Amino acid sequence: MTLSPLKNGIFIPFNKPHLTGKEHEYMADAVSGGHISGDGRFTKRCHELLEGQLGVHRSLLTTSCTHALEMAALMLDISPGDEVIVPSYTFVSTVNAFVLRGAKPVFCDIRPDTLNLDEKLLSGLITPKTKAIVPVHYAGVGCEMDSIMEIAQESGISIVEDNAHGLYGSYKGRLLGTFGTFATQSFHETKNLHCGEGGALLINNPAYVDRAEIIREKGTDRSKFFRGQVDKYSWVDIGSSYLPSDLLAAFLLAQLESQGAIQAKRKQIWHRYHESLEEWSRKTGAALPTVPEHCSQAYHMFYLIMPTLEARTALITHLKERGILSVFHYTPLHLSKMGEQFGAAKGDCPVTESVSDRLLRLPFYNDLTALEQDSVIEAVLSI
Ligand SMILES: *Cc1c(COP(=O)(O)O)cnc(C)c1O
Repeated sequence: MTLSPLKNGIFIPFNKPHLTGKEHEYMADAVSGGHISGDGRFTKRCHELLEGQLGVHRSLLTTSCTHALEMAALMLDISPGDEVIVPSYTFVSTVNAFVLRGAKPVFCDIRPDTLNLDEKLLSGLITPKTKAIVPVHYAGVGCEMDSIMEIAQESGISIVEDNAHGLYGSYKGRLLGTFGTFATQSFHETKNLHCGEGGALLINNPAYVDRAEIIREKGTDRSKFFRGQVDKYSWVDIGSSYLPSDLLAAFLLAQLESQGAIQAKRKQIWHRYHESLEEWSRKTGAALPTVPEHCSQAYHMFYLIMPTLEARTALITHLKERGILSVFHYTPLHLSKMGEQFGAAKGDCPVTESVSDRLLRLPFYNDLTALEQDSVIEAVLSI
């Protein structure tokens, strides 16, 4: 074995943040340029690149996906009494951003195939109080956006796509992040492209651009001031500080410029896992990810759904004994302490409850070598 252990006997971690090689150069450039607060040269270049790559009306870098979600909740004027529909199987920020504004979360179960919010359940969850639906494109595979958009439009409900996993994925040829009034991206180091901590708000409805700029700039019209559109800037709305430093934008630019190579590598790793484990999956009853024909996925992760919780625990242990770290994923939000306070209970989302006990994610990162991946595959096959 030419690999050396990292810590606690782990040779192959679950994630390793990728570097393209340009990050230091761009960050040094930002430092010597003298503008390292928000909205400098590198932030502008990231905005242009994201808008060009995705065809969204406007993109705004934020300090995290969590903060982009908070901005979306502020812009939709979410307030006490409103309800927001979220999948129970997601990261806590998907719901917290709306709960912060006083909304009541309504948890939707997921589809057993793609693990995305089950669009067939939506009509039963919508009430006159429903203000927004927040689909999460789990693992970078698109939700059933045709049905979701139709239901939302009929009922006058806004869509906010939590696209933390889905950057560059598409549904029926249309890029994820371009469906909702807003979409949010994460550039946390566990995501496909990253800058350590970071995010973006994508705005598809031009009517929201001015207010988004204001909310992101502490409730002031400072962005207009910098463009020379007003003589002085002042307090015009509620807001907070959601701009990342231009240093982080410099790091992120290197990643955005390499998205083609990054995504190609992830695609190759994903398919190698899939092909190598297909037969094993048929024999053992462990399910591999489902990607519908009409979805072009973003290759965010590779997961297995084991037949039972015991089988998952056994596989995690088996891999750990071989120096490989595999991890489970979300615990259902509706069963959390907070979820229960909102009246959710066991049995509300049976698919989520079952899947969350059985899903595990294999090491999946850009610099995973063929040798490392072989070790993971051999370890899975040998259980
Ligand atoms: C990572 C993640 C977030 C939060 O991203 P941050 O940038 O860390 O705030 C939100 N939603 C989902 C689905 C995520 O995977």
